[in-house]
Amino acid sequence: MFVAHLPAGYLLSRFIARGRPTQSGAIIATGIVCSVLPDFDLAYFYLVDGRRTAHHDYWTHTPLFWLAAAAALALALTLSGRRNQLILVSVGLANVLLHLLLDSVAADIRWFHPLSDLRVNLVHVQALYKPWYLNFLFHWTFMAELLIVVSAAVAATLDWRRWRGRVAALPAVK
Ligand SMILES: [Zn+2]
Repeated sequence: MFVAHLPAGYLLSRFIARGRPTQSGAIIATGIVCSVLPDFDLAYFYLVDGRRTAHHDYWTHTPLFWLAAAAALALALTLSGRRNQLILVSVGLANVLLHLLLDSVAADIRWFHPLSDLRVNLVHVQALYKPWYLNFLFHWTFMAELLIVVSAAVAATLDWRRWRGRVAALPAVK
């Protein structure tokens, strides 16, 4: 998936943030960062690994790693009496898993690594064009990505208008 990770993360995070007005800003910010967090491994892929291993094969693209990291973080927050921040761990984990789910559409993700090397890839995109990314841009799955982008843009516009309406309704500070 190319362009839909962050918009999809925004849609998921604003849904989770509903009914939590005091934490909605932190929830949406955490969710947006975590919606693209696995792809931070591209820096390692290009700068260190020299593009030798597909970045979807790094541990940063394995769900069990993120489940373990979230469990450790949740335990640390609980033991330190900061249970009110557990929602941020939940929204972060949900967004990372959404990222891996969306990656599983057109790329192979090892959902059970290191227990199993089963690769989940819903749609096989054929190599018809060069450079390689044109195969994905001309594939129908990219239309699904654009649909997510447009939905998030509409939602963000509505949120922004609502936020501006609330700010305008606030009494002026003298
Ligand atoms: Zn990814």
